[in-house]
Amino acid sequence: MAQSNLKRDILVLNMELQLNEIANTMFGKELKDLGDKELYYVILTYTKRIMKCSDTNDGKKKVYYISAEFLIGKLLSNNLINLGVYDQMNSILQKYGKNISLIEEIEPEPSLGNGGLGRLAACFLDSIATLGLPGEGIGLNYHFGLFKQEFRDYLQCAEKNEWIEEHGWLTKTDVTFDVFFGKKKVTSRLYDIDVAGYDSGINKLRLFDIESVDESLVEEGIDFDKEAIAKNLTLFLYPDDSDEAGNLLRIYQQYFMVSNAAQLILREMKENKCDLRKFNEYAVIQINDTHPTMVIPELIRILVEEKAFTIDEAIDVVSKTCAYTNHTILAEALEKWPLAYLKKVVPQLIPYIEALDKKVRAKYKDPSVQIIDKDKRVHMAHIDIHYGFSVNGVAAIHTEILKDTELNNFYKLYPEKFNNKTNGITFRRWLLGCNRELAAYLSELIGDGYKKDANNLEKLLEYADNQKVLDRIAEIKANKKVELAEYIKEKEGVILNPDSIFDIQVKRLHEYKRQQMNALYIIHKYLEIKSGKKPSRPVTFIFGAKAAPAYVIARDIIHLILVLQEIINNDPDVNKYMTVLMVENYNVSYAEKLIPACDISEQISLASKEASGTGNMKFMLNGAVTLGTSDGANVEINNLVGDENIYIFGAKADVVIDHYAKADYVSKDIYKSSKVVKEAVDFIVSKQCLKIGHKENLERLYNDILGKDWFMALLDLEDYIKVKDQMLADYENRDKWKKMALVNIAKAGFFSSDRTINEYNKDIWHLN
Ligand SMILES: *Cc1c(COP(=O)(O)O)cnc(C)c1O
Repeated sequence: MAQSNLKRDILVLNMELQLNEIANTMFGKELKDLGDKELYYVILTYTKRIMKCSDTNDGKKKVYYISAEFLIGKLLSNNLINLGVYDQMNSILQKYGKNISLIEEIEPEPSLGNGGLGRLAACFLDSIATLGLPGEGIGLNYHFGLFKQEFRDYLQCAEKNEWIEEHGWLTKTDVTFDVFFGKKKVTSRLYDIDVAGYDSGINKLRLFDIESVDESLVEEGIDFDKEAIAKNLTLFLYPDDSDEAGNLLRIYQQYFMVSNAAQLILREMKENKCDLRKFNEYAVIQINDTHPTMVIPELIRILVEEKAFTIDEAIDVVSKTCAYTNHTILAEALEKWPLAYLKKVVPQLIPYIEALDKKVRAKYKDPSVQIIDKDKRVHMAHIDIHYGFSVNGVAAIHTEILKDTELNNFYKLYPEKFNNKTNGITFRRWLLGCNRELAAYLSELIGDGYKKDANNLEKLLEYADNQKVLDRIAEIKANKKVELAEYIKEKEGVILNPDSIFDIQVKRLHEYKRQQMNALYIIHKYLEIKSGKKPSRPVTFIFGAKAAPAYVIARDIIHLILVLQEIINNDPDVNKYMTVLMVENYNVSYAEKLIPACDISEQISLASKEASGTGNMKFMLNGAVTLGTSDGANVEINNLVGDENIYIFGAKADVVIDHYAKADYVSKDIYKSSKVVKEAVDFIVSKQCLKIGHKENLERLYNDILGKDWFMALLDLEDYIKVKDQMLADYENRDKWKKMALVNIAKAGFFSSDRTINEYNKDIWHLN
């Protein structure tokens, strides 16, 4: 839907005048006299103004994407790009001697998510708006996003992460609702963030908050009183759930989110005079993982108690409205709330959850599909599967594993509900925004069409043997490496050699993501260089990751990497050949700097455990070559680029699943039989490491790898070393490598979230 809107056009035509006027009203100054921070607020105000008078994406039926996380990242340049005014803004700023990239730095990043799941929700909003679909995101307005990570004494420390300022993207609305926890009442307030589609209309992200939040509740780091619900409900994203108070607070947050969502949806239906009996003709609710699952019993409750539905009528219409996305097969991530906790927080839902369970029991004898199990725990995903009309996984292999293994008992009951929607990323942020140089060159070669229809990237294949094109793409990569090295020197105080190979692993720290295996490779390389085997070209190993504060082994892995960084970067025998860096506080903004500069994209999960991954897609799009296991979307990347343009290693998913079924993986056996593995693992508790690091952390990690190694790092270590060494050697065949980079970019079109959202719409949502 192209814009033709007079008021908006005038605003854009008069950009400079407008900016001056805002500068005058806000600060009593002219544009030329503003400092960078003031200028940021002026541009922000102007951009919000354009969005306010742009057209909105409306329609009879709307999708409500409910998610506990929206990892939106900074919005200024993304909005300017999507509104089509970035270049114009850039040239005005240049005229005044200002640098837009310095102004972008000023914006605080809203880190309203942990990682992939939240980032996916953010990419989806961009694509929903870009495709002109009616829909909105519904979530919570956490005052402190994901914690700010600081390294002290080679350990991760967590600090609170403020992002809300007086002037920001949030717009306070006059919408408020009463939310009841039993007899306790809190009053909510809705805040909106406008989401601009690329060359399209505007949608909204709707974030609920309470007025009575008390930020002074936060003590040391990120500790706070978990009991004072009226003061802490929306204080933090994901409170630590290692104790009962933390668990209860999560349930409070989840119910608060869905109660508001249900009231908002019903309010809109009333405004539009919709017939509630045809609820599903006006609304589709996408439940992003199980955090919003309570929306199902909550809607049923409201329809029965306030709208005179029978329970069967309510169940029928709600089941036709709700669709569930599964993001993981990790047992710890499939939420099971003790019924007693739910009783404490939301007693009004209990009769409905029990009724839903009773209906299941009457129909199916299999205890594994019941909602309330024998230990009186409520399986949230089971509510979604029985009482939703669609269940989707997020990559082809993930959906197959759900159907064949994890959710097989459900698949047998409802084969028609299961479908796959391979994840995607928005190319506006992950190419046009973060790599303007590459985007401009692509436009020069193949035109602008790829920006709206990513499949056009395939046109690049015509240039696969064109030396000039291959060299220019490699030159852009080299430029991005220099830019990253400059940024890192400033930010981390570490000098990187841009002529070295940049090998990057950035993602949440989790044992299944196997940062520990990468660290073991680094130890192996270090020992090799020490023994005289010098690599032909230096390598830079970059990590970025936050660990959940309660995840002990994950924090120990960070400790090991920081200790290795200290040892290796200060060893004059070695530091000419390799550098290790773990960047502090990895987040979306950091990702946007790291990804364009990457040569080797580390995607090394334990096969079957990474549902999809989206980092892998961002790297590929920016011309990195993947080193990964046959897992998640890596499998689909492999199918697209062919075996000759990707490096796959390690056991396949079926082998891993078989190991779990037979419980026959013994890490000690591998350790004992492989000299290379033994040397690398032993180094963790060597004198050298213990001199710098902490005995407690290093020994715990060492013992975990040898004792449990639940995510089987040692299983694939030797193969990983072999394939990675091959990859480093192949880098020297520069022309071969440049061609691999080109093919990866050309084949990335499939991973546009526009494709993903089109599939959701065609198969699940049916909007318009
Ligand atoms: C894309 C992204 C992720 C997800 O990365 P995976 O490698 O798929 O786990 C996590 N965090 C941030 C900041 C991201 O941008």
